[in-house]
Amino acid sequence: MKAATWIQAQMIAKAGARKMGPGNYSLLPSKFKALYGKQFTIVNNASEARYITSIEEGKTFCTCPFFKENREFGTCKHIEYAKADMAWEEALIAECEMSLA
Ligand SMILES: [Zn+2]
Repeated sequence: MKAATWIQAQMIAKAGARKMGPGNYSLLPSKFKALYGKQFTIVNNASEARYITSIEEGKTFCTCPFFKENREFGTCKHIEYAKADMAWEEALIAECEMSLA
């Protein structure tokens, strides 16, 4: 679906992200340490479709069809979902606490 405006693209992405639950989608952090918390593989558990999603500032991208079609708006439900999911951030904070101990 092609959004007409940036606001519409944001709305579609956020509405889509809200429907994505942990049971329906898996958010896998990047295996590369430098990309941890910045890049993810998001798997649709039902269809097994996988997309690479980056929420790194200035390098936001996703490999899904919506993002491709709406590239100029720079968002999709996977990006919004990754931004909203704090599990990876908690893991990162735990790692930092370990190195402080
Ligand atoms: Zn996407």
